[in-house]
Amino acid sequence: MSDAAKSEDHVETEPPVLYEVNDDGVAIISLNRPKYHNAQNGKMLYGLDAAYKRAIDDDNVKVIVLKGNGKNFSAGHDIGSPGRDAHETQDRVHLWWDHADKPGAELQYVREQEAYLGLTRRWRDMPKPTIAMVQGACIAGGLMLAWACDMIIASDTAFFSDPVVRMGIPGVEYFAHPFELNPRIAKEFLFLGERMSAERAYQMGMVNRVVALDDLEKETLDIAGRMAKMPRLGLSLTKQAINHIEDLQGKRTGMDAVFHMHHFAHAHNSLISDDNLGGFDAKSMAASQRDEKK
Ligand code: ZN
Repeated sequence: MSDAAKSEDHVETEPPVLYEVNDDGVAIISLNRPKYHNAQNGKMLYGLDAAYKRAIDDDNVKVIVLKGNGKNFSAGHDIGSPGRDAHETQDRVHLWWDHADKPGAELQYVREQEAYLGLTRRWRDMPKPTIAMVQGACIAGGLMLAWACDMIIASDTAFFSDPVVRMGIPGVEYFAHPFELNPRIAKEFLFLGERMSAERAYQMGMVNRVVALDDLEKETLDIAGRMAKMPRLGLSLTKQAINHIEDLQGKRTGMDAVFHMHHFAHAHNSLISDDNLGGFDAKSMAASQRDEKK
């Protein structure tokens, strides 16, 4: 059965993203597909965009926390759950045209411009500060959600990986690797595709704090609450200042260039194997990571 046919039959009763605001002025946005390790389908990505918009529009919200319900933060883009909806039309937020009925490499290129690169950059540039609260797996597309946040608080059970070089692809669409890690460590991270522990990610400066899993929520909300006492515009200007300097250092233009290498790789995979992921899905990616541990 095709993915499209499968997703038509498939109904998830829970919303893919939950939203609440606490008394400190902190919006808590939860990825809510724990059964699928918070794999990101289109419904989740656009649900997340709507939740972020709601938090930006609410004057009572000063700081936004992004978390994942269940054991894992996010296993990445949905490449294998029954609710995979990559071929469906979404209610888009940028001015790219609908990808769903386009031929050849255009379908995926347009979809990823809009839903992966476009949304992730939009979130990275939101005017309110964001904190990712990460436990368990934060893999590939999961990194994109965490990296787009201003701070990352991880539990000691968290791990990070971008294994997509195995698919012949030079890293996920939001190519922040050489900014999140120094270039030599970024190469190791990608060339091996192995898990980086929270502790090492902390040593490399990729996360702000590592805390025991039981303390993760309390610590994160405590930090968010302290941040929320700062003036709204001051926080926003400070965020823009640092993001602007990163962009002057080449983050944005570098990402534009690498996005096209990423799509050359997708297209190459399609030419040689008729599968733009090089024959991998969520199951075979997980299995190949288990083999490598032996
Ligand atoms: Zn891609």
